[in-house]
Amino acid sequence: MSETILVVNAGSSSIKFQLFAIRKGSDLERSLKGQIEGIGTHPYLIAKNPKGEVVIDETWPAPEVDDVPAALDKVIDFLRSHVGKLPIGIGHRVVHGGPRFSEPVIVSAAVVDQLLEYVPLAPLHQPNNLRPIRVVLERQPHLMQVACFDTAFHRGHPEVADRYALPEAYYAAGIRRYGFHGLSYEYISGRLREQAPELAKGRVIVAHLGSGASMCALVNGKSVESTMGFTALDGLPMGTRPGQLDAGIVLYLLGEKKVSAKEVEHLFYHDCGLKGLSGLSNDVRDLLASPDPRAKLALDYFAYRIALFTGQLAAAMEGLDAFVFTAGIGENAPAIRAAVASKLNWLGFKLSSKANEKSDLVISRKRSRVVGLVIPTDEELMIARHTLGALHEHAAAA
Ligand code: ADP
Repeated sequence: MSETILVVNAGSSSIKFQLFAIRKGSDLERSLKGQIEGIGTHPYLIAKNPKGEVVIDETWPAPEVDDVPAALDKVIDFLRSHVGKLPIGIGHRVVHGGPRFSEPVIVSAAVVDQLLEYVPLAPLHQPNNLRPIRVVLERQPHLMQVACFDTAFHRGHPEVADRYALPEAYYAAGIRRYGFHGLSYEYISGRLREQAPELAKGRVIVAHLGSGASMCALVNGKSVESTMGFTALDGLPMGTRPGQLDAGIVLYLLGEKKVSAKEVEHLFYHDCGLKGLSGLSNDVRDLLASPDPRAKLALDYFAYRIALFTGQLAAAMEGLDAFVFTAGIGENAPAIRAAVASKLNWLGFKLSSKANEKSDLVISRKRSRVVGLVIPTDEELMIARHTLGALHEHAAAA
């Protein structure tokens, strides 16, 4: 039985997890993928092996799994019985590494304290991400844990890309353009190096289009600009978030409309974006299938904004060599890719409809100046790699 790495992505009412076996030469092979959801309401654990076969499918009464520690216990119990032994390390997705963390870090109580400082920067995600880390630290202090950040990949941005035009004190207080989805972009950057090494050295836009969506400008594989900023609300419209907004709208809602800050937060995170514009659904599949003109408006807006931000990111790189689509929508919705590509025709992106329909690796025509690609992302594998790397470094330093 080989050693394993567990990858954990914890939300408010769910914990997603994946188990990777460590093969010869530090290769990682996914052996399980699962999640426990409905924590506190109708707890439900399901996990599948790589063949897609269900290996556990269990529910409990709500009081038995009413918080994250109890849910984590169920996951650990399952791993113990199914795999036989605990992983040698746990890699956690943590949304915010603040200004301090530009790479993954082995977690100690001191690191947790530092990460708790960033809770105000990501109030909806950071506490949930940290919860299982703290539970394991208390209960199994010898189990190595590694925090992997969605912000870290963007920490090398030039200063002009890191700032808002606010007085210095605000920058010092952490109001910066962090950028998110960094684990996805880092994975794509690596895949591009393997699959198209010449392009990887150039100027590439990656569009991570999932229920959260952003775009990243890569020069020679490094992030130089992102459409997301201080929080994951900025940039592209998303399933339920509006993307870029005039800050005056917030002042108007708070001052004139007397909407509370909590209500504005709820509006911006849950009721805007594709859902708000269409009044129908946050899911692109529903909108593509709908004859309702509001569904069309929402999708048109999405493609329009992707094209607008392409101009911005291309300007940051002073050119564009390749455009990569990834994540749920980017990987699976040829119609959205076609809508974006048609708006980027002027930039030299010439789509091959046939390759696009098949979601081939290369979806542009041979003579297209900008090469269009579809590359599936794998944030969990990225976290597992980081975790194994951090454990190796730790062992070498000991
Ligand atoms: P998350 O950000 O939650 O990880 P994903 O990257 O899995 O999200 O993307 C989820 C979104 O992808 C869904 O909300 C849906 O809009 C979209 N999606 C998934 N499959 C398809 C498909 N076949 N066609 C169009 N859109 C899809």
